[in-house]
Amino acid sequence: MKKWENLNKEQLLELKELYDKEFEDFKKQGLKLDMSRGKPSPDILDLSAGLLDPLESWKTADGTDGRNYGVPNGVAECRQIFADLLGIPVGQIILGNNSSLELMYNAYMRMYVFGAMGNKPWKDLDTVKFLCPSPGYDRHFAVSQAFGSEMIIVPMTEDGPDMDLVENLVKDDPLIKGIWCVPLYSNPQGVVYSDDTVKRLASLETAAEDFRIFWDNAYGTHHVFDKYTVANILDLAREAGKEDRVYYFFSTSKITFPGGGVSIMASSPASIAEQLKHLSFQTIGPDKLNQLRTAQFLKNPDSIRDHMSKISAILRPKFKVVLDTLENELGDTGLVSYIKPKGGYFVAIDTLEGCAKAVVAMAKDGGVVLTGAGATYPYGIDPKDTNIRIASTYPSLDELTQAMKLLCICIKRVSIDKLLAIHY
Ligand code: PLP
Repeated sequence: MKKWENLNKEQLLELKELYDKEFEDFKKQGLKLDMSRGKPSPDILDLSAGLLDPLESWKTADGTDGRNYGVPNGVAECRQIFADLLGIPVGQIILGNNSSLELMYNAYMRMYVFGAMGNKPWKDLDTVKFLCPSPGYDRHFAVSQAFGSEMIIVPMTEDGPDMDLVENLVKDDPLIKGIWCVPLYSNPQGVVYSDDTVKRLASLETAAEDFRIFWDNAYGTHHVFDKYTVANILDLAREAGKEDRVYYFFSTSKITFPGGGVSIMASSPASIAEQLKHLSFQTIGPDKLNQLRTAQFLKNPDSIRDHMSKISAILRPKFKVVLDTLENELGDTGLVSYIKPKGGYFVAIDTLEGCAKAVVAMAKDGGVVLTGAGATYPYGIDPKDTNIRIASTYPSLDELTQAMKLLCICIKRVSIDKLLAIHY
């Protein structure tokens, strides 16, 4: 296929007519599909049906009555499963309730209200700046925005955030207090941070003493194609003498039931002690019954890996539909570019500049709701208006095939207007 920027005006006008017609034909089918969020499909949820079975026992391994108050850091055998799965010492893990995002918000809020390790609370500073590798996860950016932090875009590369830029920014500015990271199968590009990236993050020289890496390993077990791994940042940060700076998060939301699983925060022993102190004022203990249920269902790292391979068998054909349709429909038109995701939940594409919003609006008109354009950038503003997140996990294969066809029609149709405006 010819690069569309080389087409002449007549050719573009001809294509415009063609895709107007294809779009109208599509609309008549009355498709109604919401692909705005990364949610598992019902058949993925069914794989965790066992989680709804009655508890084998409400007693923890050490005989504690799980029905009663207590155990602030979470049920030990459940923590042990995640310690073994993630390679983190069990004593450095706190188990939370049903949302890792809540743990991230709490950790951020504690920095803001109380400060960490004797440093000034962020609320007492003129401003706090936070590094936001972009495209990224909108809810991370929403947390920074909720606390009035100034968000700084750091471009993503195939190896993770642009580390030269990160190193340059943090070395002189004490108001840059942290960075959001989704290290394995990043949301939304499916990027895996390289060992070099993780090493550089772990040993960053920062002007801020209380710099924090919010390490959200939400897709840490979500292999789709090959099984990639990411270096252990807690180990690397400890070796660099900077272990307190890593706030590591994980949850079973995308393993069992979103919002119905357990969450994890891990850090250095000192940081975890600090978090537990705060927690002691917030709660008399987590939901241990859910932790017991999770431990009884997930059992051990091997059975989690087994469970995840069943999920990836469902996800793989969906990724294939998205990637094949992009290739077949847009191939070398030059209308989109993207990093091929290594796994996770999403595919992110970049349109020609200034087209993403119009494409998302047109797809909505055609019956497919996509994640809002701009959502993958701080403040919901994509400076070049190019990025679109495709969340393919929820729809059936048939629905997804239709949705992808529509999306490609919209990309072509909107790009034609753009090319006509630029060149003619
Ligand atoms: N982190 C990332 C990167 C996510 O994509 C999501 C959900 O989409 C979450 C966190 C939410 O996790 P939880 O349900 O544990 O709050």
